[in-house]
Amino acid sequence: MTLVDTPATTTPGGPALAQERRLVTAIPGPRSQELIARKAQAVAAGVGHTLPISVVAAGGGVVVDADGNSLIDLGSGIAVTGVGNSAPRVVDAVAAQLNAFTHTCFTVSPYEGYVAVAEKLNELTPGDHEKRSALFNSGAEAVENAIKIARHYTKKQAVVAFDHAYHGRTNLTMGLTAKNIPYKSGFGPFAPEVYRAPLSYPFRDGGLDGREAAARAILQIEKQVGVENLAAIIIEPIQGEGGFIVPATGFLAALVEWANKNGVVFIADEVQTGFARTGAWFASEHEGIVPDVIVTAKGIAGGLPLSAVTGRAEIMDSAMAGGLGGTYAGSPLACAAALATIETYEQDGLVERAKEIGSVLIGRLNALRTADPRIGDVRGRGAMVAIELVDPATGAPDAALTNAVAKFAHEQGVILLTCGTYGNVIRFLPPLTISDELLIEGLGVIAEGLKQA
Ligand SMILES: *Cc1c(COP(=O)(O)O)cnc(C)c1O
Repeated sequence: MTLVDTPATTTPGGPALAQERRLVTAIPGPRSQELIARKAQAVAAGVGHTLPISVVAAGGGVVVDADGNSLIDLGSGIAVTGVGNSAPRVVDAVAAQLNAFTHTCFTVSPYEGYVAVAEKLNELTPGDHEKRSALFNSGAEAVENAIKIARHYTKKQAVVAFDHAYHGRTNLTMGLTAKNIPYKSGFGPFAPEVYRAPLSYPFRDGGLDGREAAARAILQIEKQVGVENLAAIIIEPIQGEGGFIVPATGFLAALVEWANKNGVVFIADEVQTGFARTGAWFASEHEGIVPDVIVTAKGIAGGLPLSAVTGRAEIMDSAMAGGLGGTYAGSPLACAAALATIETYEQDGLVERAKEIGSVLIGRLNALRTADPRIGDVRGRGAMVAIELVDPATGAPDAALTNAVAKFAHEQGVILLTCGTYGNVIRFLPPLTISDELLIEGLGVIAEGLKQA
């Protein structure tokens, strides 16, 4: 629990947050317990929480609770605060926008911030073809719109998603999402014309290479759906919620090639992988693919709600005026935040920083794995890395061990997230502003948790 002075993060009008893990009470402390008790009485039970704390401040690589505990942040609010919480440029840009105007509705009376974000997205996303963007509020809303647009453009209806996919919690995106509990069970019926194809999952699909896994998926799509009915395939270049599954090399490229040949729109859901997270602006770049449409959200605006659909001009322009939009979609505050966030990724070298974080994570986790066969797999790219925990004898997923390690980390002041269809994956998504010292200290806590479990 050392005190680290970089990177300094300021809270507006306040002092820099000490970059340290500091426990002054048990987790949860009395003030946090008070809030959690109020939550149970006021907030719907379906809105869960990972850690029972009451947050009062966050920045750099820490989250501070109402009892004065300072926790190491290895989650970034689920891959959102890549630039850190209350990143100085974001705070300044949003404050200035707040003072200028807060809302007009872009589809009533436009403003520059929205257009500037669209220009930036068109420039940064893979491919040098002509592009257009449309902005929304959440990842799920953007996914829904990507599919609306693909259907309108192709005049076809079917959509294929993949095993272990996560695309959101609205009706259409629940249907696209694979995992039943907690995302789908009892919430149906789901939208029609959604089909599922097998993924490339190198740790669990018997050594299929990327081309073979793609051929298996394509055959199933051709036989069970038919390209004449298929508007789009949607896939996360690295699956997030489903277990940080990195498909075998060549899998995504083969799907893109097939989609292009068959008049099927290829949609990359980069909501979790986007914006420097994987050590590239977008994870599609690692596989050299150019998606027809790319969906972004989470890391886009430093924590303000914003999402986007960016794609080939002819696809994006196919919907009639008035067909896309939303009261708050592309709010001026969120757009100001996004421009400042993108500037921060650029100016502070955070794409490079994500790679460095990745080598620290992969190096240390592989060392742990050598000594501990319960770590079946270490995988990921950049600052999006995971371990899959298994029974060493059978390879069966070990969700109980995963939960025990996460619980230990939480009690020791480390915010740690799990994921995976089988609930046996620990994922690392630190803010890109975390120091090496804090990151390594956090990993030490997880190593201790594995030892004690
Ligand atoms: C989080 C996520 C979504 C949904 O985004 P929301 O903002 O929660 O609606 C969609 N796709 C992926 C890959 C995600 O990680």
